[in-house]
Amino acid sequence: MSQKAETVESTGAGGPEIEIRGLHKSFGDNEVLRGIDLEVARGEVVCVIGPSGSGKSTLLRCVNLLEEPSAGQVFVGGTEVTDLDVDIDAVRRRIGMVFQQFNLFPHVNVTENLTLPQRRVLRRNKSRAAAVARENLERVGLSDKADAYPAQLSGGQQQRVAIARALSMGPEVMLFDEPTSALDPELVGEVLAVMRLLAAEGMTMMVVTHEMSFAREVADRVVFMDGGVIVEQGPAAQVVGAPQHERTRNFLTRIL
Ligand code: ADP
Ligand code: MG
Repeated sequence: MSQKAETVESTGAGGPEIEIRGLHKSFGDNEVLRGIDLEVARGEVVCVIGPSGSGKSTLLRCVNLLEEPSAGQVFVGGTEVTDLDVDIDAVRRRIGMVFQQFNLFPHVNVTENLTLPQRRVLRRNKSRAAAVARENLERVGLSDKADAYPAQLSGGQQQRVAIARALSMGPEVMLFDEPTSALDPELVGEVLAVMRLLAAEGMTMMVVTHEMSFAREVADRVVFMDGGVIVEQGPAAQVVGAPQHERTRNFLTRIL
């Protein structure tokens, strides 16, 4: 590990795990995020909902610097990730991300999907990486698929492998971008069950989802975005059950 990586320390004990201040993001003259302020406490589960194109994915991608914010600050565990001097790789190691498309490595088996990033990025030795892989496959209920190749698995199983792969890196925070949107309906439940388990274990999570039952049951807070701003936020019972804003009501009538 580089000298720099070791100096990236969590200084935010007691503070929010994720803090987003005045975040703006433009693509050319398209201003996609127009001033987002959001804090996520340690162990909190925040669901982000909103129409297509409202900036939900861009928001998540700015948290782990897959997109570079145009203005504003993002802190994870007290470290400013938008600081130009920060070691991006060290930051990303603390943040797991799961996408709609599972993005598994197709040419290696499930175990190698979990061990390769640990070996390359964390420099773990083979036996340690394998042990962590076994532990996390068990966590997502796929111990029996260790030797399978991605193409031999259902979409739900592939997404659970993708979650196990992210967990194998030991993240402090997990970001989920519509993790069940590409799945056949009968496979959604098994992925949500794994996410429920993580929430119950105390993982800090930001979840972009249209699964309102998950939001109601698991989210500590629901954030509704439209047009690059947070229109309203609060407990699911409030935002989903009794929305204050016309735009939120319109969105919910369309998806429920
Ligand atoms: P959501 O996830 O809520 O559907 P996105 O964050 O994906 O919204 O996109 C918001 C807007 O940003 C869209 O208009 C989209 O076309 C635009 N956008 C997203 N990523 C890029 C990119 N890499 N380059 C140009 N425009 C982008
Ligand atoms: Mg999106």
